[in-house]
Amino acid sequence: MQIEDAENHRQVLESELRKHASRPVDLLIVDDIADWAASRNGNTKGNPPAMAVTDGVTGAWAILLRRSIDSGWVASIIDRIEIGGFEQTRSVLASPETFLRHTVLHELAHLENRWGQDHEEDCDEWAFARLNTHAA
Ligand SMILES: [Zn+2]
Repeated sequence: MQIEDAENHRQVLESELRKHASRPVDLLIVDDIADWAASRNGNTKGNPPAMAVTDGVTGAWAILLRRSIDSGWVASIIDRIEIGGFEQTRSVLASPETFLRHTVLHELAHLENRWGQDHEEDCDEWAFARLNTHAA
């Protein structure tokens, strides 16, 4: 599975954010997150397919999402979540749309809970709990 163009799923993802975020969150779909961060004087560890950011000046929240995510990246993310103990990962995150909904909710979990990178499993759990509040 790969994500060809996350822009095709924008409506669903923005509705997910409206439903679960405590304040407005911009969804920024960009070709390359490392390039975007470099252009804003930010820095990233590597070049992730998604990242939560807080504007240093305004404090506004945003979630960055790479426009296309190749099958290797999708597989490695699913592997990571599964290794974290979520046995249903492969069957639940089986479509590009559900995969992206979980990805965006995971990033929202970092923002809502002020969780750092040492909370990946907590973020996954938070995202799964909200993913299941309505049928996919
Ligand atoms: Zn994370």
